[in-house]
Amino acid sequence: MPTRDYYEVLGVKRDASPDDLKKAYRALAMQYHPDRRPGDEEAARRFREITEAWQVLSDPEQRARYDSLGPLFRADGKPPTPEDLNAYVAGTFANLFGRKKREKGEDLKYTLSLQLEEVATGCVREVSLRRRTRCGACEGTGAEPKTGRKPCAPCKGSGRSPTRVLLRTDCPHCDGRGWVKIADCRSCDGRGALDLSELLKIRVPAGVANGQKLKIKGKGDEPKDGGAPGDLLVLLSVAEHPLFRRRGLDLLCEAPLLFTEAALGAELQVPTLTGVTTIRIPSGTPSGRIFKLSGRGLPEAGGKAVGDLQVKVVVEVPPALEPEARAALSRLSGVFTARQHPARQQWDEALAARRSPGDRP
Ligand SMILES: [Zn+2]
Ligand SMILES: [Zn+2]
Repeated sequence: MPTRDYYEVLGVKRDASPDDLKKAYRALAMQYHPDRRPGDEEAARRFREITEAWQVLSDPEQRARYDSLGPLFRADGKPPTPEDLNAYVAGTFANLFGRKKREKGEDLKYTLSLQLEEVATGCVREVSLRRRTRCGACEGTGAEPKTGRKPCAPCKGSGRSPTRVLLRTDCPHCDGRGWVKIADCRSCDGRGALDLSELLKIRVPAGVANGQKLKIKGKGDEPKDGGAPGDLLVLLSVAEHPLFRRRGLDLLCEAPLLFTEAALGAELQVPTLTGVTTIRIPSGTPSGRIFKLSGRGLPEAGGKAVGDLQVKVVVEVPPALEPEARAALSRLSGVFTARQHPARQQWDEALAARRSPGDRP
């Protein structure tokens, strides 16, 4: 059984003349001849395929049998085996031979950039997208309505193969439509499809993850033959936030704290996803302490849980001091002794215990 349509193998139409066939065969045989492409397995395979197609189509008797049997054709002239019939009926070969099944349109892909704020609340985004749609004027056929077609002569408009066949097959001249195109549809230039921009609303639920995909059914390309359109696959790309990092449902942020604030306590303004809030820093707060603001994180996608906002305070030591500040700090250094710094006091004591009398202090 042929694995591909012989006409397709030779790149000719079904009504190609013996001369057309010969020309097509010669050109392809030259191109794929093993002498020209030694060691090229793919070329060798193509060459065998081309030769097989030529042997069948160049013989008028064989060609007539092939035209009526299509994929069930056997070069040895034997009738198709039950296995052949099964394969055919199961559609294994149906697509190879252009028997039209209504196929779903191509899926479209789109990358949508989101801000973390939009993830927190969910959002609806409007995007403009180019989609292939079936031409309504010609219903996807590519033929000008009314004036663009004429009935197919060989099958007398029935769409059925005019030659006697084992299984009913489509007429090869009109691919089973019963008519042939004589003028292109003016709306789509005969393509049967139009590429149109469409404004689409994409609804993004709250709590989505970076890299997550949303599928919007039926918003991909529309096939010409009226089958179901493909889907739109939206890849969500969540932008990095200048203040927040994401860990699960929690948001993490780092707040610089002046050492006077850390020592004396303070009201500190911190950001949230919706604005700014104030937290109370108690006196004696060490650098690195984390303050948790419950329920100020992200919502769980499709769930009820909400994460926390974790603010880590980090004491900032001034990298340079103005003279006035330097003078003030110098005055204070006499008061800020190790006695008020428990860790430093322990450290000093540990060192003192190790010091032998001979060491210099
Ligand atoms: Zn059209
Ligand atoms: Zn026909």
